[in-house]
Amino acid sequence: MTKKNNFSILIKNNINNSILKTKGSISNYQDFVVHDGPGLRLLIFLKGCPLRCGWCQNPQNLSLQPEIEYHPMLCLECFKCSEICPIPGTIINDKEKRINREICNKCMKCVDVCLGKALTRTGEIKTVEDVLEYVLPYKTFFDQSGGGVTLSGGDPIFQPDFTLGLLSSFKELGINTTMETCGYIKYEILKRLVEETDLIIFDIKHMNEQRHIEGTGKSNKLILENLKKICNETNTEIEIHIPLISGYNDNEENIRKTAEFISSLNKITKVDLLPFNELASGSYKAIGLEWKYSKNKKQTEEQLNKLKKIVESFALDVNIGGLR
Ligand code: SF4
Ligand code: SF4
Repeated sequence: MTKKNNFSILIKNNINNSILKTKGSISNYQDFVVHDGPGLRLLIFLKGCPLRCGWCQNPQNLSLQPEIEYHPMLCLECFKCSEICPIPGTIINDKEKRINREICNKCMKCVDVCLGKALTRTGEIKTVEDVLEYVLPYKTFFDQSGGGVTLSGGDPIFQPDFTLGLLSSFKELGINTTMETCGYIKYEILKRLVEETDLIIFDIKHMNEQRHIEGTGKSNKLILENLKKICNETNTEIEIHIPLISGYNDNEENIRKTAEFISSLNKITKVDLLPFNELASGSYKAIGLEWKYSKNKKQTEEQLNKLKKIVESFALDVNIGGLR
């Protein structure tokens, strides 16, 4: 019997069939990652997010719907895409853009014929079973390194049934889990997801409600309340990520207030300060968008150390970057 068959039998024998058939949308996997959780990790990026942070590093995952990406460097100018496209004038003779996105209906026919793989689709519907079959062959690496699976996105809470199916199945199969989240969802749903997870990486963007709305499109009230409640009502380990967005939330006052809040929860000990990442422009361009933060700069070492000291003054273990 092949290894693949063994994995399939293991899955079918341990996981309820209705959970296995639950469907969700994922964009991609990233394997052998050494951040976002302990040991060697397999990251699974789920589509959809309740927030709209302008600095998002994965804009292709914001919407639950599939995106069509175009990478001009790979285009061979064969124009197979033009031959198959059902909407005249959608494929344009501009190597930098290639698609008139105002009239493209995302039928993805061009993706299937693109010789250079310059056109790709982000977002595939998978069942929990599909994902488990992909993940299980990595279990040996997880067991040897103390690693596991990290659900990222987008935000996994945007597809709660699928995420719950994945988390509960991983638990049943003895696979360690981490979930990255912004926490913007009805508390009862968040609690259920958190209870199935070994480690939660919870993002805090801004302590000022108005500034939070300006940066993300949503209030921070539910997010901060939810964090407080999961600290009080669950046993799951929680770490905080603070993405530092230059000129938005990286001032000393906001970081002090954030650290004060975290420390008042009396549970969380680890905080990661994530310096601004200047490299997301390409991801926006690939889906035909301009990045409004393209001129923002990464914080200097001096700024980062100052912010680190502020957070440390609240007896928190602080790390700069996502690597521990
Ligand atoms: S996704 Fe469909 S409509 Fe859009 S460019 Fe490709 S073939 Fe044309
Ligand atoms: S099919 Fe792909 S490689 Fe060919 S012209 Fe279109 S985008 Fe370029």
